[in-house]
Amino acid sequence: MISINTRCTGCGACISTCPTHALRPHVGRPNWLAERCNDHRDCVEICPAGAIIYLASCDSASSMQRTKSGDQ
Ligand code: SF4
Repeated sequence: MISINTRCTGCGACISTCPTHALRPHVGRPNWLAERCNDHRDCVEICPAGAIIYLASCDSASSMQRTKSGDQ
């Protein structure tokens, strides 16, 4: 699970580098798709603005989303 903060300049480097295409172009900051993320963290490394913060593994993020929606 990542967070993209207001430092983002919209350069698109994270979108290009993600091997699983978990980041998609969007007005302003890219959209992050949890279901596609495999925790490579290439986006965190490549971001020239330091705008991407790694928060937790995508497995735990998916579990949290399933629990919130009632799917187990
Ligand atoms: S690499 Fe960083 S600055 Fe560039 S679009 Fe992604 S989050 Fe924004």
